[in-house]
Amino acid sequence: MKRITPLNRDCSNAKAVTGRAALLYPHLVFGKLRQMKPALVLPLLLLAAASFAHAQFPEPDGGDLEPGVLPLTWTTGGPKCMEIPEWQVHEYNPDLYILRQSGCTDAEMPFLYLFFGKDRGLLWDTGSRNGDLVPALQRVVHNWLERNHRESITLVVTHSHSHEDHIWGDAAVQAMHDPAIPIEFVAPTVEAASKFFAIDAWPTSTGQIDLGERVLSIVPIPGHDQYAIALYDRRTGILLTGDNLYPGRLYIPDFPAYKASTERLIAFLEGKPVAHVLGNHIEETRTPFKDFPIGSIYHPNEHCLELSFGTLLELEDGLKSMEAAPHRMAFADFTIWPLDPKEHGLGPQMEEIYKRTQAEQLANKWNQPAK
Ligand SMILES: [Zn+2]
Ligand SMILES: [Zn+2]
Repeated sequence: MKRITPLNRDCSNAKAVTGRAALLYPHLVFGKLRQMKPALVLPLLLLAAASFAHAQFPEPDGGDLEPGVLPLTWTTGGPKCMEIPEWQVHEYNPDLYILRQSGCTDAEMPFLYLFFGKDRGLLWDTGSRNGDLVPALQRVVHNWLERNHRESITLVVTHSHSHEDHIWGDAAVQAMHDPAIPIEFVAPTVEAASKFFAIDAWPTSTGQIDLGERVLSIVPIPGHDQYAIALYDRRTGILLTGDNLYPGRLYIPDFPAYKASTERLIAFLEGKPVAHVLGNHIEETRTPFKDFPIGSIYHPNEHCLELSFGTLLELEDGLKSMEAAPHRMAFADFTIWPLDPKEHGLGPQMEEIYKRTQAEQLANKWNQPAK
C-alpha cells in the first residue's frame, strides 16, 4: 500500500502511514475502504482483524505493559553549565532508569538505560568522553538496593554498539569493584555478544537474556556499526535502537546491512506491542526536518527522545525508496545519512561545522545567549 497521509502522534512530528502502519491507525484505512468494491473489502478486513489480534491490545487500557513516564524535555548542556549535573537520572518506573550525559561534558550527550530484574540488572552503554559515570551509576544502584531491601545485585554491562561515545566509561565501570554491584562485562564485539546472548547465527538470529522475571530480547542490527544490537523489553514494550534510529542524523556506512537490519527488526516485532522506540541521542529540534548543528552542546527546544513503531516503518519506507542510490534524506524526525565508505569520518564539511559550533558554544558554556 502506498503512503496514505501524515499523522501527528505523541511529541514526534508527522508520521507517514504505510501499509503496516495502517494496522496501527485503522481509522485512516476505513475511510479508504468505503471507496472500494465490497468483494475486495471483506478479505482486507479479515486480514486486518487477524493482524490486530496479534500485534495490539483489544482495549485502550494499557494492555499488560508495565507503565512508565518519560519527561517532556531533557537536560542538555546549558544555558549555564555551572547548573548542569554530569548525568541526568530519570525514573521511567521503579525498575527502569534512563541516564543522560550532560552536553557540558561532551556534545554527544548519549542516553544510557538501566534495567532491573529479580536476579540481575543490565546497563546499556557506559557513556561518552568525560562522562564520569561511576558515581551516578553507584548512586542509582545503591538507591535501588535500599528501596528493594537488597544487599547486592549483579550488573550486566552491555553495549548498543562499539563507538567511542557509548563505551568511554567501560574501564571505569570494570574497575569499580563495588561489592554491592558485581559486574558481568560483555565486550562490544559480535563474538562476545553472540556468546553471551546465545545468538546462534549473527546477524539473522536473535538472542535473549533473563534478568529474573524479565526477559530482554536482543536483535542484531549491523549497518551503523558492524557490531550493533537492538533490545526489546516485553515488560514495558520498550525497544532500544541505539544509533540505528533516534531523532537525529542516522549515519549509515553500510547501507545494505543497515536496510536488512531494519527489515529484520520490524519482522521481529510482528505481534509484539511497542510502547516507545528509544535511541542513544537527540539531534533534532522540535521544528520538523531541522536538526542542531553537529557539535552543539546546548539544545534549546530539543525534540523528545521517544519515537514510535510508526517511525521505524517510516525509516524502512525511506530506505526502500533509495535502495538503488542511497542518498541523504531528511524526514520530520530524523535524517537518513548514508556515508561514503571511502571517507573516514563524516567528511570535511561536517568536520568544519563541528569545529565552528564547538568553538562558539564552548566559549559560551557558562552563559549561552538566549535563543
Ligand atoms: Zn555510533
Ligand atoms: Zn552515538
